[in-house]
Amino acid sequence: LHVFHLDFIEWEKSLRLKGATLNTTGALLAIKNPANASLLCEIPKDTCRSLEKKIERARTFSKTWKNTPLIERMAALRRFDELLKRDLEKLAQILTLEMGKPIAQSRDEIRSTHSRTEFFLGEIERALAGEEPSCQDYHNTEMTEIREFLEREPLGVIASISAWNYPYFVGFNVFAPALLTGNCVLYKPSEHAALSGRAMGDLLHEAGIPEQAFQVVVGDGEQGQALVASQVDGIFFTGSSATGKLIAKTAQERMIRLQLELGGKDPVYVCDDADLDFAAYSIAEGIFYNSGQGCSSVERIYIHEAVHEPFIERLQYHSAAWQIGNPLEDTCKVGPLAREEQPAFLMTQVEDAIQKGAFVLRGGKRGRDGYFFEPTLLANCNHSMRLMQEESFGPIAGLASVPNDQAALTLMNDTTYGLTAAVYSRSKERARRILKDVEAATVYWNCCDRVSPRLPWGGRKDSGMGVTLSVEGLRIFTRTKAWHLRDTP
Ligand code: NAD
Repeated sequence: LHVFHLDFIEWEKSLRLKGATLNTTGALLAIKNPANASLLCEIPKDTCRSLEKKIERARTFSKTWKNTPLIERMAALRRFDELLKRDLEKLAQILTLEMGKPIAQSRDEIRSTHSRTEFFLGEIERALAGEEPSCQDYHNTEMTEIREFLEREPLGVIASISAWNYPYFVGFNVFAPALLTGNCVLYKPSEHAALSGRAMGDLLHEAGIPEQAFQVVVGDGEQGQALVASQVDGIFFTGSSATGKLIAKTAQERMIRLQLELGGKDPVYVCDDADLDFAAYSIAEGIFYNSGQGCSSVERIYIHEAVHEPFIERLQYHSAAWQIGNPLEDTCKVGPLAREEQPAFLMTQVEDAIQKGAFVLRGGKRGRDGYFFEPTLLANCNHSMRLMQEESFGPIAGLASVPNDQAALTLMNDTTYGLTAAVYSRSKERARRILKDVEAATVYWNCCDRVSPRLPWGGRKDSGMGVTLSVEGLRIFTRTKAWHLRDTP
């Protein structure tokens, strides 16, 4: 760790020299290692002046980028994919150092951008293709002599304001399709993943994306707010529901494209006919992967009363594999939480639940030095507890017994969120019956906490609006232009 730390400081100094030309007078962003609370480095935040310059630069370049042949934009994205592979180890270590993700999971996150690249490159031509509708005039049921054509154009300059929990996923899901469809991007990584954000920017430029087409904005909520208030043509935000609602007010006022990927309080239901061992194995991963800091992490578990005890036994068995450790070690499964205040927040949820009748099955307290929290399971939970209502965003879940499917469905829907929900059952028909009435944008049968590039990813209720991924997630970065064409009579 010590040897790497020295390399890291050298590497960071070189980044800092580049950044310093943008901002010599502004404040610095302190980057801390959540595993031991030590200061890793400080990097300059953007100022109003530097941000204005970046927006102006993007605006001036947007016509050139829009008219750059698609094949060139595609080649640059393909090269970016290769560079991510080349620098995998360094990038994974930076990600782990700045936000605490276990190193094996950091590598997996970066590697998984490959299948998204393949999907976007495979679909982009179809997604952008113009359409010529049949020129039948439905009113007169005759063919008209006016030709009609639908074309898709980029939005222009977009702001991508991102979260820290999966910076490669949530960043890439926005900036890759935005760039491919011909938009200039101002990318603001979270203050807890700023080094990864800057590293992505460097690699995109090395891959051939012009510097004006992709610019990184460094800072926290202040810089995010300034970006939202600026003259961008679209805002693509991933973060908490509270921040998302604030942003929505400004964006709606300006009538620009707005896409919000927000929080979750995702439930699973274990039916009495489920394969309990398999369900427990899969759900333990859904709770503890990424130290529980996933928008689609499992946070609520409803268990049919007929299998309540045996399921809990299996869950305890499988969750024992998820232990906290040094996130730089290959074997580590649960790292520290990214934010300093989060362990204390989780403690208040645990105390509230215990006071209202919950039992601790496992964990329930802060871990070692740094921002660790023990992997935690609480049984006998109910919806008067904050643990079953507020997003936890940590390695913790509440369990409750239910008498039947209807009761499970009612509790799954008793939330302000609507991101994902899962049912574990041997019967596809039974799972389908329950899931079709669940108010969530993504539903799973015998799996959970999963995202596919081929399917739209979005939320209902306080979990957001709009989608990324899928063909929809490419077209969301475009607007239509309707052409009516008639030769001179
Ligand atoms: P956050 O809302 O604190 O911050 C998100 C981003 O917004 C950061 O870059 C931050 O600097 C910026 N920001 C903060 N205040 C702002 C303001 N007033 N105006 C503009 N920008 C502002 O969220 P977070 O802690 O970074 O991320 C965790 C949250 O993100 C969780 O709720 C999680 O569920 C959610 N999330 C959702 C998805 C999804 O796909 N639905 C994916 C990942 C994370």
